[in-house]
Amino acid sequence: MPGPDLLLVNGKFTTLDRSRPTATAVLIRDGRFAVVGDEAEARAAAGAEVQVIDLEGRRVIPGLIDSHMHVIRGGLNYNMELRWDGVPSLSDAMAMLKAQAQVTPPPQWLRVVGGFSEHQFAEKRLPTLDELNAVAPETPVFILHLYDRALLNRAALRAVGYTRDTPDPPGGQIQRDAAGEPTGLLLAQPNATILYATLSRGPKLPREYQLNSTRHFMRELNRLGVTGVIDAGGGAQNYPDDYAVIEKLHAEGEMTVRVSYNLFTQKPKEELADFAGWARQITPGQGDDLYRHNGAGEMLVYSAADFEDFRAPRPEAPAGMESELEPVIRLLVENRWPWRLHATYDETIDRALDVFERVNRDVPFDGLHWFFDHAETISPRNIDRIAALGGGIAIQHRMAYQGEDFAARYGETAAEVTPPIGRMMAAGLPVGAGTDATRSPATTPGSRSTGW
Ligand SMILES: [Zn+2]
Repeated sequence: MPGPDLLLVNGKFTTLDRSRPTATAVLIRDGRFAVVGDEAEARAAAGAEVQVIDLEGRRVIPGLIDSHMHVIRGGLNYNMELRWDGVPSLSDAMAMLKAQAQVTPPPQWLRVVGGFSEHQFAEKRLPTLDELNAVAPETPVFILHLYDRALLNRAALRAVGYTRDTPDPPGGQIQRDAAGEPTGLLLAQPNATILYATLSRGPKLPREYQLNSTRHFMRELNRLGVTGVIDAGGGAQNYPDDYAVIEKLHAEGEMTVRVSYNLFTQKPKEELADFAGWARQITPGQGDDLYRHNGAGEMLVYSAADFEDFRAPRPEAPAGMESELEPVIRLLVENRWPWRLHATYDETIDRALDVFERVNRDVPFDGLHWFFDHAETISPRNIDRIAALGGGIAIQHRMAYQGEDFAARYGETAAEVTPPIGRMMAAGLPVGAGTDATRSPATTPGSRSTGW
């Protein structure tokens, strides 16, 4: 049963239509634009029943679609996090932390998990451990900076139980003072497992609160103009168990963002079995406009995942990577499963493309949708190889957080074309834009998350 027409007048519409880039009024009928123009045109076409909204000169943009987000997992924790996104100074950030500490009694934690970097602060530095202890003497504080370090105050160290006798985990370092006691600084050396494993020791929200938390996360996205996201899966985001919250919201008609989601393998060395099992359970495209399955990724095999930390040298994928990736790609193509693959560096993309081209010769991709995520340092040659295979690229603004580190390692000139968006567009590739928000993997003890 169609409702009344909706007439929006006195607005500033950004149409993205080159032949008519702006409009001041629109008429919407049955959920579609019937007129885009001025008030006289729109009124003339309106039906007998019409709801009129005067926008009083406000800007109207198309709903934004974020092609790389971790909304399903992020929603489970959103209400527990203090966010420093865009906060201009460390003193402002610390004032927020102090205010939050006063209303957050232990055993709950104060968490700032991703979404900021020291470069955004006027002071160009992170808080010291002493500063954290001063603003929050009782409540555990956990602050995650990108994927390289976490800062814990004394209360958090007590809560997680790290002492002088706690060994450093593989790939991670617990910084010690002269007496051998942990200082509260945890370092990825080089992988971020220690950071997420420590975060996972904090309290979790009960199910009812996770529903509320996910609603708030979606509402915040709406506030920023986001109406659709593609969920890139993530470490510790098991299908179907960790999808119960989003599926309940969908079943109850509470989605305020359209979500399509990719499935992310959770088992190093058993990735093929994961995808084979899922291919029997679910079909790409299954769902509806508000919640739909979108294929595989962004993790296809752990050996192909090049962890990005521009402070550190580029990691080289192990020699056996191709022999693990190939059967997974073959399975996906045979089952007509679209995929996305996390790949930061051109060297990783180059080797993945060798695999894709080999599979395509046996089992033609034939228009199947697939793309690389990130691709910061992709070469012109590999952009052309992607175009030839009908693929795309999803880029994010990771350089906004790590551009200084990238430029320090690779030079300002390289940073200017990182990622090379103009070159991708010129090659005719579909290019998606996204945020990778909120970069806040929540792991369960024993899980393998390394930071996607
Ligand atoms: Zn990724």
